[in-house]
Amino acid sequence: MIYLDNAATTKPKQSVIDAMMPYFVENYGNPSAIYSFATKNKAAVQKARRQVASLIHAKENSIYFTSGGTEADNWALIKTAEAYESKGKHIITTAVEHHAILHTCRYLEERGFEVTYLGVDKDGRISVDELGKAIRPDTILISVMFANNEVGTVQPIEEIGAIAKEHDIVFHTDAVQAFGHLPIDVEAMHIDLLSASGHKIYGPKGVGCLYIHNNLKISSLIHGGGQERARRAGTENVPGIVGFGAACELAAASLNERMERESNLRDYFIEELLSRVPDIKVNGSRENRLPNNVNVSFPYVEGESMLIMLDMQEICASSGSACTAGSIDPSHVLMAMGLTSDEARESVRFTLSDETTKEEIDKTVNAVEQIVERLRSMSPHYNK
Ligand SMILES: *Cc1c(COP(=O)(O)O)cnc(C)c1O
Repeated sequence: MIYLDNAATTKPKQSVIDAMMPYFVENYGNPSAIYSFATKNKAAVQKARRQVASLIHAKENSIYFTSGGTEADNWALIKTAEAYESKGKHIITTAVEHHAILHTCRYLEERGFEVTYLGVDKDGRISVDELGKAIRPDTILISVMFANNEVGTVQPIEEIGAIAKEHDIVFHTDAVQAFGHLPIDVEAMHIDLLSASGHKIYGPKGVGCLYIHNNLKISSLIHGGGQERARRAGTENVPGIVGFGAACELAAASLNERMERESNLRDYFIEELLSRVPDIKVNGSRENRLPNNVNVSFPYVEGESMLIMLDMQEICASSGSACTAGSIDPSHVLMAMGLTSDEARESVRFTLSDETTKEEIDKTVNAVEQIVERLRSMSPHYNK
């Protein structure tokens, strides 16, 4: 099998699984308990908190473990909206966010908040000027994703952070795709809230975190016990948290090498496709792009058909985002970038891992070349 759907989820590293196992088997104590059998679990959670924090240059006590990126996004938006409601009810986000943000914004709109959705250019980037112009006296929150999950476009986060700080507006970023894949410094980038997830960085599913800057008074989304300094109730997912921490430590140790290796392979993949498959179009920015993302539109080729034919050769890729797969709607991200709905439906996303090889890319390019030729030959509209 050739797995090229790493933006949807990644294969957990063996060392991550090894770190988790004792917390399923022997060390099953509840971290809140008093006896020493359980206190080592509390220590394990604290160690993971340090590992997560250090990856984004955050203070250890500003990391709150959650059930994943989705919960962190919901928490950041809903509780910031509630906390600052008396100051204003205006939120700024973008048209290309993950549904964890967009659907939460819709929920807030139903509750009387007003949301501005910034458009993007053909590369999928927002304009910092336009963001500045969208700010109003009643703007309480800016939420812009660090990097896009479909096309890999990286936003000008540092500039956005500077504008937010200048206007004293809370700045949240859904960094699920960038966390552990790109360098992030929450202090230097003036990020107040940041969402991350374990399973996008070779860690376990069902665990992630929200970074909350220490000056922010954001209350709990989940009510119950006093876990996570009374900010996130529920018995800690100790094995998951330990695995998430281990994945962060691995990511930190090899970040630069992986970025270099993956972006070289990504560029090779794109160049090979461009030279071998006629009339195709690369989606997303070539310069400001996640190191592992390749997104291409193949005119006269239905993306879904290509995926099925790739699957017959045991190659895993995706069209649109995994979260919208199964629905026939063209990707909201590609539409916001100005693609026609046909071009959006003709797009396929390949996302590499740190273990993807050149041989796998060569096999995939061969497969894609054949599939495109075959599907186009059956299309009544394609004549070249
Ligand atoms: C995967 C993803 C999420 C959701 O994270 P989960 O941990 O799966 O809930 C949110 N935002 C982006 C950009 C993602 O890629």
